[in-house]
Amino acid sequence: MTASSPVHYEIVIVGAGFSGLGTTIALKEAGFDDVLVVDDADGPGGTWQWNTYPGVAVDIPSFSYQFSFAQRSTWSRSYAPGSELRDYATQIVEDYSLGGHLQFNTRVQSASFDGDDRTWRIETSRGPITCSWLIHAGGPLSQPKLPDIEGIDTFAGHTMHTSRWDHDVDLTGRRVGVIGTGATAVQVIPEIAPLTSALTVFQRTPIWCLPKPDFPIGRPARAALSSIPGVGRLTRLASQTFVEATFPVLAHFHGWIPATSLLETAARQYVRTQVNDPEVRRKLTPSYALGCKRPSFHNSYLSTFNRDDVTLETDSIECITPTGVRTASGAEHDLDVLILATGFKVTDRDALPTYALTSPDGSDLASHWEDTRFHSYQGVSTSGFPNFFTIFGPYGYNGASFFTLVENSAAHVVRVLDEARRRDATVAEVTSDAQDHYMDSILARGHLQVFTDPTCSSANSYYFTKQGDVPFRAATTIESAWQSRRFPLAHYAFMS
Ligand code: NAP
Repeated sequence: MTASSPVHYEIVIVGAGFSGLGTTIALKEAGFDDVLVVDDADGPGGTWQWNTYPGVAVDIPSFSYQFSFAQRSTWSRSYAPGSELRDYATQIVEDYSLGGHLQFNTRVQSASFDGDDRTWRIETSRGPITCSWLIHAGGPLSQPKLPDIEGIDTFAGHTMHTSRWDHDVDLTGRRVGVIGTGATAVQVIPEIAPLTSALTVFQRTPIWCLPKPDFPIGRPARAALSSIPGVGRLTRLASQTFVEATFPVLAHFHGWIPATSLLETAARQYVRTQVNDPEVRRKLTPSYALGCKRPSFHNSYLSTFNRDDVTLETDSIECITPTGVRTASGAEHDLDVLILATGFKVTDRDALPTYALTSPDGSDLASHWEDTRFHSYQGVSTSGFPNFFTIFGPYGYNGASFFTLVENSAAHVVRVLDEARRRDATVAEVTSDAQDHYMDSILARGHLQVFTDPTCSSANSYYFTKQGDVPFRAATTIESAWQSRRFPLAHYAFMS
């Protein structure tokens, strides 16, 4: 590769997480072999490559949190630990011979489409490359969000974000603070509490926490999954139904099936059984409707607050000092280690995508979405941005298993590229009519969603953009899968 003649690929995919891997498999199976996948990590797996904090595990059953075409019968638990997801990614690379397509330690800095020669020019940390078709397969939870708290850089102890866990830092016998009580903190806190000499959890907004049907899968069960006809399929079906019922149906069809209040009652009862101190219990109980933000599932998060060496601090943080955290009441919490479980930039301008992406007329995708609000066609393509696809674009994900989304989006992309190849077209772009029609149909269901509950305004939920939109696809998984594979090809304009 030289600056004057960048290497050209037919297709470049940004991201070697499960989105990028699944899309590459779908493309190869459809006969597209000139595919390069770049990723700034040093191995495959995306979020599971970066997140290695203690307690990391899936919180969607493993029977669903995997590709339909590569189902594993060797998960050790019904909710596999993160290390098994990393192994699964490596296995997928091997089984589908993806290694030759992957280029790690490569960060994309910008991408712009030249309408004259119909080529994407991509600047990366390892030099420029070009391609005909660009697929953004970066997940929504890849950019750590550091809290904008005064003095954050002055702390003299060790600071780390959960998604960049420093395993050289020994927490044994140390005074540790955790900022945040989202899904990540829920997994970290019970794991580290027994190690630390004192653990202070700084909570701004409590999270709904439900018990997790997490159990080991012993050897006989694994054998049954792999060898008894129908067992694997039935288990998967039950798991998919559970996932569908616990998010897409509850969240998007709340107006028809208002079952979140039943879950809330169960969650309140669960807090009562888990937390001894009534005041701590009160502080751990959210006041917003379950579903406004992502609930968590854990069997020992709540009870960890019964420990004498764990403190729940709900006074707001005033600043971080060289010795620890000062809260609004003036209380000083002296700490050795500060853990930022503060989540990710999800709908922030610099998060989707994480680099400047420019259309032929010079529009920047992030600015375009910011000015005109998020929109897309099935979460996969955006009018005005030809030859560009997103696997996890706005209004594409319905909240069920992420793997189902990947398979659906990849099927959509392959369908467009197949058609372009059949017509000998060098440009494909979704029409604005098709996009508008899709957006109208999704937004028309908005009134049914749980996100319209007025209490959501106090949830601090990253589901909401700053304009108040929730860019989920208000649809069932079956409907999404059908639409991804059956949309009229006339919804795209193809040019030779
Ligand atoms: P998150 O849900 O965004 O939670 C971030 C936490 O940090 C919130 O409690 C937030 O409080 C707090 N926070 C942020 N800035 C703060 C500040 N300046 N001061 C005080 N508190 C602050 O992030 P996450 O826990 O990393 O989870 C993100 C997503 O990752 C999850 O929703 C889930 O989709 C995924 N995840 C999945 C798994 C899994 O499947 N295994 C595990 C972990 C995470 P507020 O609520 O008040 O903003």
